[in-house]
Amino acid sequence: MTTDTKLILVTGGAGYIGSHAVMALQQAGYRVVILDNLVYGHRDLVENVLKTELIEGSTLDRGLLKEVFNRYDVSAVMHFSAYAYVGESVSDPSKYYENNVVGTLSLLDEMVAAGVKNIVFSSTCATYGVPEEMPITETHPQNPINPYGATKLMVERILTDYDKAYDLRSVRFRYFNAAGAHPGGQLGEDHNPETHLIPLVLQTALGKRESISVFGTDYPTSDGTCVRDYIHVCDLADAHILGLEYLLKGGESNVFNLGNGSGFSVRQVIKAAERVTGKSIPVVEVERRPGDPPALVGGSDRARSVLGWNPQYADIDTILAHAWAWHQTRHG
Ligand code: UDP
Repeated sequence: MTTDTKLILVTGGAGYIGSHAVMALQQAGYRVVILDNLVYGHRDLVENVLKTELIEGSTLDRGLLKEVFNRYDVSAVMHFSAYAYVGESVSDPSKYYENNVVGTLSLLDEMVAAGVKNIVFSSTCATYGVPEEMPITETHPQNPINPYGATKLMVERILTDYDKAYDLRSVRFRYFNAAGAHPGGQLGEDHNPETHLIPLVLQTALGKRESISVFGTDYPTSDGTCVRDYIHVCDLADAHILGLEYLLKGGESNVFNLGNGSGFSVRQVIKAAERVTGKSIPVVEVERRPGDPPALVGGSDRARSVLGWNPQYADIDTILAHAWAWHQTRHG
């Protein structure tokens, strides 16, 4: 079978990272079916940009999953669908454990029942908790400090056990901070509510918000604000194609960090956004946000050496420029 005949089921394909992965899959010649409950995903992007089949539903719906695996000859699953608001996971953990863990369990069980053996799973650097050393490598201890990170770690463990017991092979990607937008301008980040730094900074530049709040200025970092490793969403999407092909060629289950290996503070991101947008961005300094580690920077040598991953858009100004183009079209 050649790659262009293979069909990939993408859960959460109407969301931010999932939609970019769907476009990358299409460009690589795969057929795609999206399963998305559209709680946070965007129907218009699927219908108008991706133009692919959308099954509206939840991974918690076992009957629907059975039907999907009966109807389609699925070669592999890319599993993006999850709730991903750290703060909400603290105030409403039930929602997170149910959707992210129970929903994934039902997806995995239906994959096993249908004989689908390959899954690319979206995990997160939030599974590491507060790092003991940086850059964080895949062997760093995992001690998540919020329920969101805990749900992702649980799924990682389930995947390890399912590989041993049922021969279900997985690539688990631990993303650092997904950012940017498709350079073509058709896809980008559009969360509601929006809580992420870069979109909020750009909404401020657009005049949609009066100011950007900086959460904490007394961290043990160079300028007192939190440091994160921002990775372009198209580089994440590329890694998914490489991870998928690695599995389809018979590669063993593995886990990979996906980051650029360089950290930017909140103040540095705001400065870069001022450079890119040409606007001055008013800042208000406020208290720390609970659950934020001071710095998270990832070492991604394993993805480079095993998968041949080579991020194209590591420069923070490029990441912001793509996000800015998208925000002006979507929200301008
Ligand atoms: N942040 C901020 N103001 C905001 C949103 C985020 O200062 O309005 C900070 C946040 O504390 C963190 C960094 O920006 O240190 C990135 O936050 P984001 O929510 O984008 O991603 P996270 O690191 O939580 O996945």
